[in-house]
Amino acid sequence: MLLDSKVAVISGAAGVRGIGYATAKLFAEQGAKVVILDLDEAASQAAAATLPGAGHLGLACDVTDAAACRRAADAVLARHGRIDVLINNAGITQPVKTMEIDAASWDRILDVNLRGVLQLSQAFIPQFRKQGGGAIACMSSVSAQRGGGIFGGPHYSAAKAGVLGLAKAMARELGPDNVRVNCVTPGLIETDITGGKLTDAMRADILKGIPLNRLGQARDVASAYLFLASDLSSYITGGVIDVNGGMLIH
Ligand code: NAD
Repeated sequence: MLLDSKVAVISGAAGVRGIGYATAKLFAEQGAKVVILDLDEAASQAAAATLPGAGHLGLACDVTDAAACRRAADAVLARHGRIDVLINNAGITQPVKTMEIDAASWDRILDVNLRGVLQLSQAFIPQFRKQGGGAIACMSSVSAQRGGGIFGGPHYSAAKAGVLGLAKAMARELGPDNVRVNCVTPGLIETDITGGKLTDAMRADILKGIPLNRLGQARDVASAYLFLASDLSSYITGGVIDVNGGMLIH
């Protein structure tokens, strides 16, 4: 198993149709003790209870709240005494145009998608350093690379592009501590993030631009996270893995 007895913390993983939960499930199948962080404690606990194997945990953690991130880290360390993998997956989107972005929307989208990655990483970095290593993987998006995905506005593209810069800089800084930091950049993945707005006509149109001729599934992204979390990627840091079916080849 690729993550035997590793402690893996995954943010935004309580929704059972989401990428975070698919990752939690795959990691548990690979022997990890998984900690699910999400906004709602009961939902996090319920999701953790469905994972295969024992020793999983579900906690409430709003990644925009630095104190909540530190509390989550304290709870993980109290329970397991270590962390091996952090998956910064939590995110939100808003399908609007440039002129529709007001200050509150900008703050909301940047806070969850970008500030959250920084704050949750900061909560665990001291422990990674103490242990002498670990792996962090961060959620960006094709939206950051091609100037918009399908469901994200320009502020979402900016936040996800910010994640790439933040993760690469953390990779450079934390390399000497043997902490690897990488990103995934998914294309359109079928989860609840589309908010039921994906019509059949839109789907057919989108598929014309995807060489693999299908939309992504949460498990497709979970597999990329697994690679980055495991020793299979032991010499990879500051990397970006496209999980987009060929939607963007560059
Ligand atoms: P999702 O809505 O199922 O998952 C997002 C999760 O994040 C939810 O469980 C939500 O409760 C949680 N969350 C939201 N705000 C939070 C906060 N402040 N603190 C903690 N958790 C919070 O959607 P998904 O598609 O699985 O999205 C997962 C990640 O993948 C997001 O970062 C998203 O931007 C990114 N992404 C998705 C796609 C796609 O097409 N689905 C493509 C590229 C990137």
